[in-house]
Amino acid sequence: MLSLVAHAGLVRGLVEFGTPGQRERFLPRLLDGAVGATAITEPSGGSDVAGLRTSAVRTPGGYLLSGAKTHITNAPVADVALVLGRIPELGRRDITIFVVDLAGPGVARGPAESLFGNRTSPTGELRFDGLELPGDAVLGTEGHGLQMLYDVISFDRLLYGLIAAAYLEPLLREALEFACSRQAFKVRIADHQYVQGKLTDIRLAIETSRWVSRAALDAVVAGDPQASLRCSVAKLVGSEGLAAATRDVMTILGHRGYVEGPVTRSIQDALGTLIAGGTTEMQRKNIFNQMLGELAEEEVH
Ligand SMILES: Cc1cc2nc3c(=O)[nH]c(=O)nc-3n(C[C@H](O)[C@H](O)[C@H](O)COP(=O)(O)OP(=O)(O)OC[C@H]3O[C@@H](n4cnc5c(N)ncnc54)[C@H](O)[C@@H]3O)c2cc1C
Repeated sequence: MLSLVAHAGLVRGLVEFGTPGQRERFLPRLLDGAVGATAITEPSGGSDVAGLRTSAVRTPGGYLLSGAKTHITNAPVADVALVLGRIPELGRRDITIFVVDLAGPGVARGPAESLFGNRTSPTGELRFDGLELPGDAVLGTEGHGLQMLYDVISFDRLLYGLIAAAYLEPLLREALEFACSRQAFKVRIADHQYVQGKLTDIRLAIETSRWVSRAALDAVVAGDPQASLRCSVAKLVGSEGLAAATRDVMTILGHRGYVEGPVTRSIQDALGTLIAGGTTEMQRKNIFNQMLGELAEEEVH
């Protein structure tokens, strides 16, 4: 599921901010099997995005890009990536997104990391050592990378809620069927209120993730100023709901749920969503900052 989010983020970035040339060059490939990635996190950290070190120098023909990105979904197999870097010669506002064709020389990839979950989503390192980029490799405008990035990652964030809802549907079905067939104390375990509480909590996680995410998607499409806040709410509700609900499924299934298999893997996958796409703390930080922004806006008018 994380591979899909990473790919979708790149496609959205190109659709929203790409030049006609970039769209023509990359979109047909990306819609026809080529794999995309969004490379933000660096060995020094992922939450403090503006602290990134990857940088490019201008050359007569374009740019030379150097730096390292780590924990990048799809990195071991990706064909194209959005890479966040800076162009120091621009001065204070220098953060820029580059659209990078990963086939060329100057790109090194680490092996797929051995993750605790999401093991079908290859994740790893990308290193650029003086990678030559053409003059049209910048997405949007030089130095405007952060604003565009927030738009791209907002879209990624709402996808977490939609994916969480879809991921939980079959697990809920399994838990419900089990609860209706398993007996304890001479009745179905589904007749025990504590079990009913868990099953309804899972349903609540599905419904809240789905509808909050859809509202966030509407806000993104409409260019609503609250889009960023709602996308962070969707990410937080989706990933936290997924983590809690997968644990509930395991406990409803009792010892069967704890045998290594799809249910334990679902917990491992769910925990990764608390970190990928920005941690829960960073979603809260964004929600709070957006609320402060709204207040300041109201006070001006
Ligand atoms: C499965 C998976 C897939 C990933 N895929 C990608 C990808 O495709 N592209 C990509 O760029 N990155 C990807 N990442 C990396 C991910 O975005 C980062 O791990 C994440 O942003 C956190 O960065 P960090 O791990 O460096 O932790 P740090 O930023 O070092 O943070 C460590 C802890 O401190 C907390 N913290 C930091 N700052 C604050 C603050 N101001 N207030 C409160 N708490 C704070 C964090 O919430 C966290 O709990 C992926 C990660 C995982 C696990």
